[in-house]
Amino acid sequence: MDNRIFLIYGKDPGSMTKALLEAEKAADLIGDRGKRIVLKPNFVIAGDPSDGATTHTEITVAVLEYLKDNGFSDIAIAEGSWVGSRTEEAFRMLGYYRLADRFGVELIDTKKDRFRKVTSHGITMEICETALNADFIINMPVLKGHCQTLMTHSMKNLKGFLSDRSKRDFHRLGLMKPIAAIADIIHPDLIISDSICGDLDFEEGGTPVETNRMMAATDSILFDAYSAGLMGFQPDDIGYIKEAREMGIGDTDPSHAEVIELNKPVVSSAKPHGTAQRLAAYTAPDDACSACFASLIHALKRLDDEGLLRRLGSRKIAIGQGYKGKKPEIGVGVCCSGAEHSVKGCPASADDILAMLRGLIEQE
Ligand code: SF4
Repeated sequence: MDNRIFLIYGKDPGSMTKALLEAEKAADLIGDRGKRIVLKPNFVIAGDPSDGATTHTEITVAVLEYLKDNGFSDIAIAEGSWVGSRTEEAFRMLGYYRLADRFGVELIDTKKDRFRKVTSHGITMEICETALNADFIINMPVLKGHCQTLMTHSMKNLKGFLSDRSKRDFHRLGLMKPIAAIADIIHPDLIISDSICGDLDFEEGGTPVETNRMMAATDSILFDAYSAGLMGFQPDDIGYIKEAREMGIGDTDPSHAEVIELNKPVVSSAKPHGTAQRLAAYTAPDDACSACFASLIHALKRLDDEGLLRRLGSRKIAIGQGYKGKKPEIGVGVCCSGAEHSVKGCPASADDILAMLRGLIEQE
């Protein structure tokens, strides 16, 4: 576990995943070829990844190809959908039965696994033996919004290792402390994050925001603390990150992360819809990169949640490479550094954009 976070931009999750695995030197990280490796995607429901809820299948394929090419063979893919959904439906819809055959790996619906009771910080939970017995866990969450916890990513994705009974208990206990507690018990060895088009505010998807970014890290808690900023939150805004800090189980200061970009962002091609489309009415993109534009949409969502969005009036926020050398009133990213009110960064981060917009509104 170290403090590095690798970022890569693009539209091909397969090649991006391979580049992240190479950057992390994943084969060296795993070591012994006889180790039992468990892959944990996010199949909260049976949903198409383009809806912003589930891990892109190309990522799993790339991880499996990488592991096989490097001589690893004891591999399982394990997941349990949320209470009320059948994991097999997601496995079928996303082609996992074929994948398991093709690569000769186990496919485990954790709802049907054996469980052991484990306790951390006073929270007792039933965790599947597949996770507890793994030598190396590769967590593959989707970075997306969540209607109760605001954000779901690496730490919360571990809920898929619980029995349905414990998932219900987690909700009864308010989610935050239990999520921190499971992160104290299960430490994924590597996290390959799908931030291609995670949902704006619902874990079950429906309002995907094209970001065209993937990330990799080994410290789950620091990674979540950093990722909160990508969605316009401070780490303590996310209850389970705050609990993790108070429990003393990990570093939640994003300034301690060493962020390494493997390439530069790509220009967006998607048209936002739903809530994202309404928020996009406050923007004036011109050749905007998807990661930058996604940051702006997340910042506008936070502003809307705070009841401040309307105070922007009819002003539109400039963003994109088409603004180089121009002087818009409000602009985002280095391309708009000539703006009267601007935020640096390439891409700009949602928390910086939010701070700039809040300041602008509050000084009026
Ligand atoms: S600052 Fe400009 S080049 Fe950089 S990510 Fe944003 S739009 Fe793209």
